[in-house]
Amino acid sequence: MPLFIVDRRLIAELPSDGTIFDFQAACLSELADRLAYLGAPLCIRYGEPTEVFHALFNELSVAVLYYNRDYEPYARERDRAVEALARTYGVTVRSFKDHVLVEPWEVATADGKPFVMYTPFFRAWSAVPKPEPFGEPEHLRGVPGLRSDPIPKAVHLGKPATIARWAVDPGMHAAHKRWERFRSGGLLQYHKSRDFPALEEGSSRMSPYLRFGAISIRRLYWDAVAYLQDPRLSAEERTAIERFIAELAWREFFQHVLWHFPDTPRRSFRPLGDAFPWENNEHLFRAWSEGRTGYPLVDAAMRELNETGYMHNRVRMVVASFLVKDLHIDWRWGERYFRSKLLDGDLASNVGNWQWAASVGVDTRPLRIFNPIRQSRRYDPDGTYIRRWVPELSELPATSIHEPWRSGRPGTEYPYPIVNHTERKRLFERIYTQLRSRSATGELPPSGRDL
Ligand SMILES: Cc1cc2nc3c(=O)[nH]c(=O)nc-3n(C[C@H](O)[C@H](O)[C@H](O)COP(=O)(O)OP(=O)(O)OC[C@H]3O[C@@H](n4cnc5c(N)ncnc54)[C@H](O)[C@@H]3O)c2cc1C
Repeated sequence: MPLFIVDRRLIAELPSDGTIFDFQAACLSELADRLAYLGAPLCIRYGEPTEVFHALFNELSVAVLYYNRDYEPYARERDRAVEALARTYGVTVRSFKDHVLVEPWEVATADGKPFVMYTPFFRAWSAVPKPEPFGEPEHLRGVPGLRSDPIPKAVHLGKPATIARWAVDPGMHAAHKRWERFRSGGLLQYHKSRDFPALEEGSSRMSPYLRFGAISIRRLYWDAVAYLQDPRLSAEERTAIERFIAELAWREFFQHVLWHFPDTPRRSFRPLGDAFPWENNEHLFRAWSEGRTGYPLVDAAMRELNETGYMHNRVRMVVASFLVKDLHIDWRWGERYFRSKLLDGDLASNVGNWQWAASVGVDTRPLRIFNPIRQSRRYDPDGTYIRRWVPELSELPATSIHEPWRSGRPGTEYPYPIVNHTERKRLFERIYTQLRSRSATGELPPSGRDL
């Protein structure tokens, strides 16, 4: 009997915009149709998970409870509580690996500790045998049809939905269709095209599907590995596929970090992140979140996020660096804002990447500060991406679109830069370097992480 629990407490605590729940509802609705066709209607219940199970264990005679493991701190606590309850009813519990290829405890450093650097993690991760995808059941028999609550849409959950059009279509069918297109097209140029936000097929856009389980990580990994066996591939094409696999491993790396360091959503991995004198100027934060900073690449990226629930990876790094290192705003503000809007918003990947971009997390050397103008010239050279999302600048030629203020009024609507990048970067570097040396001499409070 397939069961989906709408955990209202969890939903209330999530910063997520209602759009994410509408996207999830569309995925669920497709799943429910598929399950009904196979003979097992999906049962949806609203409530606190242990209470829902309590009711179900009384309603039915349950022999075994199956679930896939989840590595987020709240989920671990919830699953422990449900397992304990199941035991009191004599219900056997079986849990499985599904969300990742390699679970956080399956790899460790030579002295048995968690990895805090990606490269050695990747080496160890690569050596672990990975589970293969398995097919859909042909039918499911004897499943009782129970009372089911409605599929949870934003409106049922009291969450306003603000995103006008989703970057990708929801559901398993759409996920597989997009994956097939990417696999037989963009994948072979991935290493060259993945950094250019104007190219919609430059990366796979599998992240929202992985987030909602509409496609399996096993499918992506093993399809990529199978492709590598093709003797007709050029060396460059092999590099492209290997690069894609390495990105899948970044996702697993951050699951590993979150599982081993469950307080990282609240605290910086490096203590200097919590000692930094963040300015947290609300006016500047609003300008950043609304795409009105006067830096065209930053603004294009924020508007893409606000309008579609997706942002390209290259510009995620640029806007995160800008928020933290130019505006001196605490990375947690940006992390929360991203998670409120991203269709792929995922605690482990989001926190891990935000801390990386803020240079306060794992794998932080060297201190990287992205120059929003240089990044713009390099990764959107003819301004196609900027013109797509910042219509006020659409008439500007490529020569002036990256720094519109240099050619006089950039357009009556478009603002001048809200801060001077060079000055703010210098100030950040100065404070960061001081904090780093205080940290090295033990002056800052210890992080509490004995690595
Ligand atoms: C500040 C910031 C916040 C981010 N927040 C999230 C988030 O909440 N959820 C999320 O899934 N990704 C996040 N990322 C990582 C990355 O930007 C997205 O996974 C990627 O843009 C998704 O597009 P894609 O599917 O086309 O990626 P592709 O380039 O096609 O990569 C394939 C898959 O590899 C994984 N992947 C790629 N890069 C990363 C990465 N740096 N970290 C973790 N996994 C990666 C994703 O699952 C992705 O779908 C964040 C990155 C930054 C810099």
